[in-house]
Amino acid sequence: MPGFEIFGKEEQKEVNDVLETGVLFRYGFDGARNGHWKAKTFESEFANLTGVSHCHLCSSGTAALSIALAACGIGAGDEVIIPPFTFVASMEAVILAGAVPVFADIDETLCLNPESVESAVTERTRAVMPVHMCGSMAEIEKIKDICRKKDLILIEDACQSVGASYKGRFLGSFGHMGCFSFDPVKTITCGEGGAVITNDKELYLRADAYADHGHDHIGSDRGLESHEILGANYRISELNAAVGLAQLRKLDYILETQRAHKKAVKEALSQCPGISFRKIPDESGDSATFLSFFLDDESRTREAAKELAKAGVDGCFYWYDNNWHYIRQWHHLKQLKGAARLPLQLLDKYPDYSRINLADSDAVMGRTISMQIKLSWTWSDIEKRIKKLKGIFS
Ligand SMILES: *Cc1c(COP(=O)(O)O)cnc(C)c1O
Repeated sequence: MPGFEIFGKEEQKEVNDVLETGVLFRYGFDGARNGHWKAKTFESEFANLTGVSHCHLCSSGTAALSIALAACGIGAGDEVIIPPFTFVASMEAVILAGAVPVFADIDETLCLNPESVESAVTERTRAVMPVHMCGSMAEIEKIKDICRKKDLILIEDACQSVGASYKGRFLGSFGHMGCFSFDPVKTITCGEGGAVITNDKELYLRADAYADHGHDHIGSDRGLESHEILGANYRISELNAAVGLAQLRKLDYILETQRAHKKAVKEALSQCPGISFRKIPDESGDSATFLSFFLDDESRTREAAKELAKAGVDGCFYWYDNNWHYIRQWHHLKQLKGAARLPLQLLDKYPDYSRINLADSDAVMGRTISMQIKLSWTWSDIEKRIKKLKGIFS
């Protein structure tokens, strides 16, 4: 899965370009930088790849979510519908914007169930933020239709699904804005980094300004630039952008390798009784970072996760018990009300998350195991893995 597995000469070359000039800042220093604009180059290549008109590269995926929410004007008291299976950053970004996360159920796509989204809409709903989990897609067209019908903003959290597509169109390009992460364990990495993409110039300009204290980036004197909005510092450095640029150019290779590795393991596993697979709305667009499968019930699944670990089949996740990816263990969120842990004084707007019922999501997550697909596997590694899987499941 992660780009760090193939960190090599290409990344070193890009980083060296930056080190040789000493210009680590992504803006200005036109003379000293010797023609190297790593962040800007990444942005134009990534926009090209995803088929959108604008990209802003920033310091993390979490920053990307905050930037998108701010650019879309989502703030105090606005409800944002999100799934309970994600990384905590999705929920954090909504709360730190002063907005209220409202959880809708997931289904066997491991992403938001469109029907559950529709029934979670209230008069305070401003946005829906589907998360394309584990390398593959939500029912994004159906969710987009709901947003259109109800006049809601659509922000895609595609942090785990760079390079994945639905019916030939890249994830992240369906919504008003799409967000990506290039942290050290994502498909491609900047070390730390993230990006927002959009086809809306106005949203892009706001995102670009918000990520840099409101600077409009017009003119050649930074001190004389205007600031029409307040912002923050979510800038990426040229060093991180340089790493990302080399990684981005390896994305095709990464996807091709993952898809081949996943296909082999999935074929073998599909011959085992009692196993079914995650529903993927468009199989051909799967980025294949994970192979997610279901067993019959929670106790069998938890037992299987233990057997996999014992047999040395590494990289298998039982998310239902994971502290970071599923709401069940988000005790800090559930204590928001009681312990007043929130850094904002908006507590009366928040539901009591400890009482939330997501039985449909629990039923799916309790039966799910996700296996990370590695780039560095050799075919002999894959054969050994398949043998162990057959020993456990057939
Ligand atoms: C990784 C991730 C993020 C946050 O990205 P960072 O770059 O680590 O801040 C947000 N959402 C999801 C679904 C993620 O997996």
